[in-house]
Amino acid sequence: MNYNVNEKGYYGEFGGAFIPEMLYPNVEELRQKYLKVMAEPEFQKEFNQLLKDYVGRPSPLYFAKRLSEKYNTKIYLKREDLNHTGAHKINNTIGQILMAKRLGKTRIIAETGAGQHGVATATVCALMGMECIVYMGEIDIARQAPNVARMKMLGAKVVPALSGSRTLKDATNEAIRDWINNPVNTHYIIGSAIGPHPYPDMVTRFQAVVSDEIKWQLKEQTGNENPDYLVACIGGGSNAAGTYYHYLHNPDVKLIAVEAAGLGVDSGESAATSVLGKEGIIHGCKTLLMQTKDGQITEPYSISAGLDYPGVGPMHAHLAKTGRAEFMAITDDDAMNAGLELCKLEGIIPAIETSHALAIFEQKTFKPDDVVVVSLSGRGDKDLQNYIEYFKI
Ligand SMILES: *Cc1c(COP(=O)(O)O)cnc(C)c1O
Repeated sequence: MNYNVNEKGYYGEFGGAFIPEMLYPNVEELRQKYLKVMAEPEFQKEFNQLLKDYVGRPSPLYFAKRLSEKYNTKIYLKREDLNHTGAHKINNTIGQILMAKRLGKTRIIAETGAGQHGVATATVCALMGMECIVYMGEIDIARQAPNVARMKMLGAKVVPALSGSRTLKDATNEAIRDWINNPVNTHYIIGSAIGPHPYPDMVTRFQAVVSDEIKWQLKEQTGNENPDYLVACIGGGSNAAGTYYHYLHNPDVKLIAVEAAGLGVDSGESAATSVLGKEGIIHGCKTLLMQTKDGQITEPYSISAGLDYPGVGPMHAHLAKTGRAEFMAITDDDAMNAGLELCKLEGIIPAIETSHALAIFEQKTFKPDDVVVVSLSGRGDKDLQNYIEYFKI
C-alpha cells in the first residue's frame, strides 16, 4: 500500500485537483515546479537555515515523566509549541514563502479561521518584505481579535469575508476569487494539508521536518528511532501529516489520529469527519467531508477553532479508509480536562487543539513499555480566554 501521493495527485481514491478552469494555470505551474524547487540545494539551505535560526528548530522531544507515570506508559512530547509564533504552522509558511519567491511572486494571499495560519503567513511576509492579504470571515474577525491585531501589526491587510456563514469556508472562497483575479504575481499559501494537488503533498513535505527530527531524537534518547505509537490531532491534518511522514510505510509504528467530537459524535455539534464524513469535494480536493444528503457542507463544531473544519486532508481520508491510522474522537470536555492536566503535571499549557491528542490516554490503555510520541502542536496562550471561561479560573 502506498500512503504518499501518486503522480496523478491522489492518495488512494482521495485528492486530485478539482478547480475552476481560471485557476488551472496557477495550480499547474506549482505542480510542475514544486518538487524541483524543493530539491534545489540553495532552497534546502535557506529553508533549513530559517527553521533553525528563525523558528528555533529542532524543537525538543521531551520525555514527559509525570504524565508517563500517571498513565503507566512512556510518553514523549514533540514540542512544536516552542516554535516561533507558537505552533507547527510556521514550518509550512516558511516553506511556501520561499517557494513563492522562487516562482517570482510578490504578493501573498491566505485564508484563516482562528487566525493562527493568518499570523504565521503575516509573519513570513514581514520576514521577506512581501505584500500580504489575509481573508477571514467577519464572524471570526470578531471572535479572534488578538490574532487580527497581530496580523495588522505584522503589516498584513485583513479582509473580511461577508458571504455565507462568514467563517473559514467563506474566507477560502474569497481567497480563491482573489487568486483567479491575480494569477501572475500572487501565491496562495494554504495552511493545512488540504486543497488541490500539489498542496497537500507540498504542505506535508514542509511539515515532515517534524518526523525527521523525531527519528534522530528518539534514537538518541531510547536507542530506537521507532516509537510504538505516533499521536496527533487533526483539523485539516498538517501537524499529523508531518508527524507521520517518515513512518508512513513502517508497519512497526502505529498511527493515531485524533479528531474533535465537539459535544459528542452524535450530537449534531461535532467535527469528527472520519466518522461523520462522506466522500465529497471541498476546497479543490476529493476527500471525506461532513455534508447533508444533498451535498451541502455541514457547519462543524469544536471548542477548538483549529479543529473546526468540515473535512480532512486527502492523505488522512486514505489513512482512515485503509485502516493505516486509528481515528479517535475526543469531546470538548475531555480535551479541556486533558489540557489542564498537562499544565499541572508537566508545567506546559497546550493549545486546545493539542489537548484533544492528550485526552486519548484516558480512553486507550498503552503497555508500560510502549513508546508513545504525541505531537504537541501548539501552545495555549491564544486559548487562555477559553480556558478561563471553561474552568471559571
Ligand atoms: C491549526 C492548528 C491545528 C490543526 O491544524 P492541522 O493542519 O490539522 O495540523 C492543530 N494544532 C494547532 C496548535 C493549530 O494551530
